[in-house]
Amino acid sequence: MQDKCSFCGRSRSEVDLLISGVDGFICDMCAQQAYDIVQEEQRGHSTPLDMDHIEVKKPIEIKQFMDQYVIGQDEAKKHLAVAVYNHYKRLTQKHSNDDVEIEKSNIIMVGRTGTGKTLLARTIAKMLHVPFTIVDATVLTEAGYVGEDIESILTRLLQAADYDVDAAEKGIVFIDEIDKIARKGDNPSITRDVSGEGVQQGLLKLLEGSIVNVPPQGGRKHPDQKMIPVNTKNILFICGGAFDGIEKKIAQRMNTQVVGFTASKETAVLDRDNMLQYIAPQDLKSFGLIPEIIGRLPVLTYLEPLDRQALRNILTEPKNAIIRQYVKLFELDNITLNFNEDVFEYIVDKAVEFKLGARGLRSICEAIMTDLMFEIPSQNCESITITKEYAETKMDRLTAQKLRA
Ligand code: ADP
Repeated sequence: MQDKCSFCGRSRSEVDLLISGVDGFICDMCAQQAYDIVQEEQRGHSTPLDMDHIEVKKPIEIKQFMDQYVIGQDEAKKHLAVAVYNHYKRLTQKHSNDDVEIEKSNIIMVGRTGTGKTLLARTIAKMLHVPFTIVDATVLTEAGYVGEDIESILTRLLQAADYDVDAAEKGIVFIDEIDKIARKGDNPSITRDVSGEGVQQGLLKLLEGSIVNVPPQGGRKHPDQKMIPVNTKNILFICGGAFDGIEKKIAQRMNTQVVGFTASKETAVLDRDNMLQYIAPQDLKSFGLIPEIIGRLPVLTYLEPLDRQALRNILTEPKNAIIRQYVKLFELDNITLNFNEDVFEYIVDKAVEFKLGARGLRSICEAIMTDLMFEIPSQNCESITITKEYAETKMDRLTAQKLRA
């Protein structure tokens, strides 16, 4: 008897492939169809955001998770851990009789560039069960101007949620470079401030919790495009920015405070190298954020500047530390890569010298490693050790100027 597909009855000559089973056959077309049905079923039945069955980590566990990837920044980590934990609690809150409704606490993180704001956000995203997206505030402009409308922030979230509106409404959005939409001066301007106050007003609408019509494909609003209404009430917003120069505003405020009130010992001794630790909401206002926005970002936290020790740790400690990445790359070619301890010190010295912070570490490492990565795979070599002398010769060829580029 001729072999036939047990599902559609086609014979071997009518199909491309006939797979045999214990007691029958299946052809390629039926197998594909079966696969599609399984996929469809799974999609229909899975409730990706079944909040009751999500295992919510405790704030301490969330921080421990972040510790694996981000060096230091304990203050910011604590605030983030609590915010994320509370976000989950709010979403799973059952209706109770006492009418106490937990409101969300959006966060704003202030810290110099390259101190780990985006890294913190990305790390949190790794362990979240809710949709998460990172957007850059620099591209946002007031409706009607060149640039992206504020609503595009939610387009990204919708995309992250596979257009599941319900899931997106429980998501978290990280808005990077929020300082770039600050008003240019402390006084409200009469002339239009395209990328400043108007954008803040728009953003306010999202932060406050309202129903926003979102263009599903992003970009500019288009009259023909069908909008998707998204309620932002439960979306958690985390904002980050460098706020260049805000230290001066903090210092000004602190000085007047010291004069105005009886100066206590603590306020008298200011840690001038790390003024951000004293940041208060009014400093954000002096910088040019409107009070309404500040009010909607009740948790204000800061990131520490990275000192030598922090830079040294960043090189090797985090789970995906730069040096570990090189070791892994060489390992894939069956080569054992070692670094002499003084090489790390040297790399940190250079990063400090060029004032490049943690961002510079990678470019310095690249400068040292590029030639090796080019040559070694073609050589018969089992192990290699990077010495300080080798690093120096490679670095000497590069000027700081090049690194910055
Ligand atoms: P920011 O958003 O504050 O400007 P990023 O988070 O983008 O800075 O940091 C740039 C890079 O520097 C990161 O990808 C990471 O490799 C490194 N880095 C910065 N801060 C830290 C930190 N605290 N711990 C570990 N790595 C860090």
